[in-house]
Amino acid sequence: MLKKYLKNKEQEWEDLCIRCGGCCGSFDDPCVHLRKDKHKKYYCEIYETRLGLHKTVGGEEFNCVGVKEIIRTRWKNDHLCACKREVRSPKKRVKGQGPGGKED
Ligand code: SF4
Ligand code: SF4
Repeated sequence: MLKKYLKNKEQEWEDLCIRCGGCCGSFDDPCVHLRKDKHKKYYCEIYETRLGLHKTVGGEEFNCVGVKEIIRTRWKNDHLCACKREVRSPKKRVKGQGPGGKED
């Protein structure tokens, strides 16, 4: 029951994401696992196993966490983040995918 609830909550967050890649450094120093698809949307090449220690292209080490855990932190161009906008003022959902996103 709780597991299903948490899974649904996680999916709600993923559905908000417009895959701008900002939370994975697309406007700055990106994660080495961040990729762009043919529609110019970002996705994570290791999405299912993404959580944990990784490096940016510039060599900086960081811990990849779920978007809920960083939603109140700042990153470059975070005003574009649909998940942050939802937290500030909940509105109609936009279809998309998770932090960094899965590939279509
Ligand atoms: S979800 Fe995590 S591992 Fe994947 S590209 Fe973004 S920061 Fe990197
Ligand atoms: S969680 Fe926000 S910043 Fe990250 S890819 Fe999705 S919309 Fe962009």
